[in-house]
Amino acid sequence: MSVDLSIIVPLKNEEANLSNLWARLEPVVRSLGLGFEVLLINDGSTDRTLARALEMAQAIPELKIIDLSRNFGKEAALACGFSHARGAAVVSMDGDLQHPPEMLPEMVARWREGYEMVYAVRRSREYQGLLDRAFTRAFYWLFEHLSAVKLPPEAGDFRLLDRKVVDALNALPERNRFMKGMYAWVGFRTLGIPFTVEHRSGGTSSFSPLKKLGFAFDALTAFSNLPLRVWSVVGAGISLAAFLYIVVRIIRVMVYGLDVPGYESLLAVMLFLGGMQLLSLGILGDYLARVFEEAKGRPLYVVRERFGFTEDKQKRATRRVRKVA
Ligand code: UDP
Ligand code: MG
Repeated sequence: MSVDLSIIVPLKNEEANLSNLWARLEPVVRSLGLGFEVLLINDGSTDRTLARALEMAQAIPELKIIDLSRNFGKEAALACGFSHARGAAVVSMDGDLQHPPEMLPEMVARWREGYEMVYAVRRSREYQGLLDRAFTRAFYWLFEHLSAVKLPPEAGDFRLLDRKVVDALNALPERNRFMKGMYAWVGFRTLGIPFTVEHRSGGTSSFSPLKKLGFAFDALTAFSNLPLRVWSVVGAGISLAAFLYIVVRIIRVMVYGLDVPGYESLLAVMLFLGGMQLLSLGILGDYLARVFEEAKGRPLYVVRERFGFTEDKQKRATRRVRKVA
């Protein structure tokens, strides 16, 4: 059967969730009556995720497994999934059942209506702590004001993408992959449908607050060069103020004569300017580091082994034939 629908699931330490995931996904996806494949991308799990997946794949021909050589991060695992997926539509979802598979029929229906990207929108963030939520809000506020790309609020990585969108994403070579921004950047006819995020079915989240802060910074610098350019405006403003101040001082000296006090204000201004310069240099350095990362042109991920791909089987077979001959 040809593959109409590919479902890609990045996995890091999800051994506790794999059978639950399949138990809930299978009836839904079979009810669609489409040819499908499920791509499990093992992103350097340190538990038995791969072993569990391989066990399951023995009984399920639609399961394909890609084992990455180490942990490359969820975004890289998704990129790997997108470039391996064969379907006319591709769905990406988390492996911890926070993304309910029961949403699939509606996503597929919308896709058939002509939407090229159907993404699930969280109804609420109740599953997150207060601090976490405040942080998220601050990030989206900043992103909206710094970047020309408009992020739909509350949309995540649970999406159905048409082949056209997947090809467009696969053609983006950058290493700094902020997927939400990239989805928005490629455009296409998109539609958001609401869903309720469930609690993690088992295991723990891989994203600590500190990690999230790093991601937020990466995302902002990947999709905006305002932090880089703002310094010329700040510099010009400060110079202008300084110039006006000099004019005022000259006039005062001419009218009232010379008076010297003002060491403290001098020190304050110097410290302020020094701080500004260091900050702007730091941001310059950050962008430079990013250019360096991109210039190296390393692949996003390295595959250790793939399971369930017919091309591989054929290749292995020809190799065997050659050996025999
Ligand atoms: N994940 C991954 N690589 C990583 C971290 C996470 O493939 O380095 C997967 C993880 O197994 C899950 C999904 O990405 O399927 C979402 O991760 P998680 O639930 O930890 O994130 P959260 O839901 O807390 O944002
Ligand atoms: Mg999760």
